[in-house]
Amino acid sequence: MNNIFNYDLIDLENILINNNYKKYNAKQIMSWIYDKKIYDFYKMTNISKELINYLNQNFNLFNIKLQKTEKSKDTNKYLFKLKDGHFIESVLMKHDYGNSVCISSQVGCNMGCAFCESGRLKKQRDLLPYEMVEQIILIQNSIKKRIDSVVIMGIGEPFDNYDNVMKFIKIINNPHLLAIGARHITVSTCGLVPMIEKFSNENLQVNLAVSLHAPNNEIRNKIMKINKVYDINKLISALKKYISKTNRRVTIEYILLDKINDSEKCAIELANLLKGMNVYVNLIPYNETSHLNYKKTKKVQSDRFYDILKKNKINVTIRKEFGSEITAACGQLRASEVEK
Ligand code: SF4
Repeated sequence: MNNIFNYDLIDLENILINNNYKKYNAKQIMSWIYDKKIYDFYKMTNISKELINYLNQNFNLFNIKLQKTEKSKDTNKYLFKLKDGHFIESVLMKHDYGNSVCISSQVGCNMGCAFCESGRLKKQRDLLPYEMVEQIILIQNSIKKRIDSVVIMGIGEPFDNYDNVMKFIKIINNPHLLAIGARHITVSTCGLVPMIEKFSNENLQVNLAVSLHAPNNEIRNKIMKINKVYDINKLISALKKYISKTNRRVTIEYILLDKINDSEKCAIELANLLKGMNVYVNLIPYNETSHLNYKKTKKVQSDRFYDILKKNKINVTIRKEFGSEITAACGQLRASEVEK
């Protein structure tokens, strides 16, 4: 059985044509699922009985199950159980300008960033497109509101699951399916340099975010294993190429870690590193967890860091804190379930 959320409109059209059904049936089926939220083929009243039987014999939907929800004022966290028993999680952030969902792209992560709760548990496997699509649809249905933007920044490194993530983006971006605008989709990488180049050839209007988290190799080597493979110089030069090829601004993610990467010297170094680049720095307050020793930077220090970047004409914001009263660090909900 194939999960129908693995398919783009054009895939379904080709499958139907190859099985002697009409191309337009694909649009009808996708409209029932994505617009009318009808998930039972028998209830699709404008398609033939024969096609309904074919769909029932060959396709299914919703192979992931919502296991647990934690809610706070501006954030919900969702734990999902996959068909093979693994757990993943997603986060809904309620902004003034709409609802944004941060989804997982892998079960666990092998990138081994030292401050990251998600990476504490190694990768078990990549997620398939339907497992990413279903995270969004199940959240959308549970809040009964549209999801306006999607960030692929939850558990996993999306560029380590490149093909499935690209397929997922095409599905959610398709105007006949989830219709989430490309400019409202962001892929976040820890810095897989060859994949950044590959991504620049996709000709997508999707945003790229890069987890930099340090202004030099000395600090980055300590907190991000990937830096030993693709160091800061290689990463910055890949980003410069990406920006000049796509003409798109890149978001630089920088988690502020107390006494690790938050000094004034670090801020000056970061400003020099990014000078003249079309980037936007997102300073992220750290979510402390009981398993890791890293601490959150004090507000006065993060304000100082921000001011130095601003003074050096770097576009910068400090990200609003989400969900500090629930298990906010990405991967915490899954870890607590797996380690039970
Ligand atoms: S920060 Fe991202 S890339 Fe690094 S270990 Fe965590 S999930 Fe993986």
